[in-house]
Amino acid sequence: MSGNEQKYIKEAFDTNWIAPVGTNLNAFEKEIADYVGVKEALAVSSGTAAIHLALSLLDVKTGDTVFCSTLTFVASANPILYQGAEPVFIDSDPESWNMSPQALETALNDAFIKGQLPKAVIVVNLYGQSAKMNDIVSLCKKYRVPMIEDAAESLGSTYCRKASGTFGDFGIYSFNGNKIITTSGGGMLVSDDKEALSKARFLATQARDPAPHYQHSQLGFNYRLSNVLAGIGRSQLAVLEDRVDAKRTIFERYLLELTDIPGIEFMPELKNTRSNRWLTVLTINEEEAGVTTKTLLDALGEENIESRPVWKPLHMQPLFRGYCYYPHKDGESVSEHLFEKGICLPSGSNLSEEEQGRVIECIVNTIKSKVGIDGKLRWG
Ligand SMILES: *Cc1c(COP(=O)(O)O)cnc(C)c1O
Repeated sequence: MSGNEQKYIKEAFDTNWIAPVGTNLNAFEKEIADYVGVKEALAVSSGTAAIHLALSLLDVKTGDTVFCSTLTFVASANPILYQGAEPVFIDSDPESWNMSPQALETALNDAFIKGQLPKAVIVVNLYGQSAKMNDIVSLCKKYRVPMIEDAAESLGSTYCRKASGTFGDFGIYSFNGNKIITTSGGGMLVSDDKEALSKARFLATQARDPAPHYQHSQLGFNYRLSNVLAGIGRSQLAVLEDRVDAKRTIFERYLLELTDIPGIEFMPELKNTRSNRWLTVLTINEEEAGVTTKTLLDALGEENIESRPVWKPLHMQPLFRGYCYYPHKDGESVSEHLFEKGICLPSGSNLSEEEQGRVIECIVNTIKSKVGIDGKLRWG
C-alpha cells in the first residue's frame, strides 16, 4: 500500500457511499482514462470480468472462435469458455515473447479461407512488455477482427509513447493483489467507444432496464467495483510511476550483475517501448550456463527465495486440450521454449537492495558450484 489509502476509504465511509456508486468510483475511472489517454473507463471487480464484458459486447457466443495469446495466465482465455466459444491459441515471437504476428497472420488467413474468422483477438502484454502492436493492429484491421488488449500486467508501460492497453477496441487492466497497483481485487475496461462502455456499465450491473420496478430483458452480471476499493485504487494510481521506476531499477541491477553469466538472457524490451518490468524474467541455456532452470528454481527455494517458471502456455493446459494452436513457425514453438527455460525473479517494488543482493548471490553461487573450477566459467 502507498500510505494514502485510508484518506479515500474514510471519505467513502464518511459519506456512506460504499457500493455500487460513489465519488471514488467516478474519480478512479476518470483518473485511469486520463492517465492512459482513452475516452472512457469502467471500474469492475476483476480483470477477468473486464475481459468477459468485452467479449459480451462483441457478441461472442457458442460456435464462435476467439484467438488468444498462448503464453499467458489462464484468466486471459477463461472468458472465451464462459461465452461458450472456442479459443485458438497463438504462439509468441522471440523478440517480444508476446503474440507472434507471423503466427497470427497464418491463423487469420486459414480462418478467412474457411470462412470462419474469429469474433475477437485477445493480445496479452506479458510481464509488462508490449506485443508488436503495429503489426498486430494492422493484421486485425486487414481482416476486420476486433482486438482486445489484455494489459493486466502492463499498466504503466508504453509502446511508441502510447499507453499499453489503448491499442485495441477494448483494453483491460487488473488490480489484483499481485499486480503493479492493487485494489485488493479489481479491474478496468477501457475504450474510446463511449457507447460500448455505457452498454458495459449496464451489463456489469445486472442489466437492469430503466423501469422503477426490477425489469430485465438481457442477461447481465454483477461485476462493478465497490466505491471503497476504488478509493484504494486512486491512491495506488498516484504512485504508479514510482512503482514503474522501482521495478525498472530492480531489473537494471539484475541485468548488470547477471548479464556476464553465459547462457542467461533477459526478457527483451522492444525498440520504442517502455516496459513497466512488472517481473524480471530471464531464460537459462543449460549448455552454456551449466545448470537447468529447475536447478536454479530449487536452489532459490532452498534459500527461502520465491521464484517461478514463466506461465505454462495455455495450449499445453489440460483445461484447453484439443483446441487449435498456431506455433511461431512450423516446428518452432517459442512459448514452449520460454516455458522450459524461463524463470521469474523476485521483483516486488518494495524489494530491498539487500534482499535483491541475496537473490543475486544465490544465483551466482549456484551456477559457480555446478560449473566448478574446470567448467566453462568465463566470468566473475
Ligand atoms: C492477472 C491477470 C488477469 C486477470 O486479472 P484478475 O484481476 O486477476 O481477474 C488477466 N490476464 C493476465 C495476463 C493477468 O496477469
